[in-house]
Amino acid sequence: METYLGLDMGGTKLLIGEVDRYGNILRYKHYKSGFFNQQAAYTIIRESLDDYIASVGWVGDKPVSMGVGLIGRVDPNSGVWLQIDPHRTESIALASELEKIYGIPCRIDNDVKSATRAERVWGVGQFSKNFVYINVGTGIAVGTVVNGRQIRGSHFNAGEAGHMRVGVNVGITCGCGRTDCVETIASGMGIDKCARYLKDRYETRLVIPMENGARVNVQDVVDLCGKGDPLCNVLIQNAAEGIANLIMNLVRITDPDTVVMGGSIVGNEFIFDRILAALNQNTMRFVTNGVVLTKLNPKFVGLLGAAAVAMNM
Ligand SMILES: [Zn+2]
Repeated sequence: METYLGLDMGGTKLLIGEVDRYGNILRYKHYKSGFFNQQAAYTIIRESLDDYIASVGWVGDKPVSMGVGLIGRVDPNSGVWLQIDPHRTESIALASELEKIYGIPCRIDNDVKSATRAERVWGVGQFSKNFVYINVGTGIAVGTVVNGRQIRGSHFNAGEAGHMRVGVNVGITCGCGRTDCVETIASGMGIDKCARYLKDRYETRLVIPMENGARVNVQDVVDLCGKGDPLCNVLIQNAAEGIANLIMNLVRITDPDTVVMGGSIVGNEFIFDRILAALNQNTMRFVTNGVVLTKLNPKFVGLLGAAAVAMNM
């Protein structure tokens, strides 16, 4: 049986697994990552791969190829991981390095673009050639497929739609320098920022952690919103309106027949229903398959994406 090795490298965890051509996950193992730069990430990838080969091993013969999904800017053609920090460039020729060490052909791509590939191969791509994949998790990014092909741009930077302004005005400065980008309103990171910024203006029972790096729990925000908590209601309503406006802006650009959503934030039905309620039916009339949640298992969409990269799909 032909298999493909996928590596889904996130900011805090690395998932390695073997997948068949139909998208069945045959074996997998989780690793901790927690890296601050690409060189450190590269070391974690090698150590984890060594462990995977020693402790899990191949289902049959060596995988046909491997694919890696990475955060940041990636050139999938040359296999170079360009950068994760906009202020630093430390390109790594990751694909050729891994190929040399493990003797398996290797391809790489950005994580959201990889997830969009998985969606194209095993998800809505089975009935749509024009769709938008919106990932709302810690941050927000978008994969756009037009006539069956994914848009990448001149610097592999297409789809950073988290930095669109969407008409929800809170007053938060984004890392990019603009104010109220949708990512600062509606992502996990953004809901945390908004909670801190607005906490003295609305009554709330929400616990806002003060330890360095700890974030507001989005599920707590949802639960309290359902109980009428004033701050949490504002946070969820702003997030839903922000995402709905993002969807409608994107729909006007590429005329998709399907909008598919993934990521931990929109996986929450309470928020998803509010997003749907905030859509304008006239704007959405040509999105004939509607706005849908991904059918791919959210825990494995990154791994499936990496396998689709390995398959060069
Ligand atoms: Zn921004």
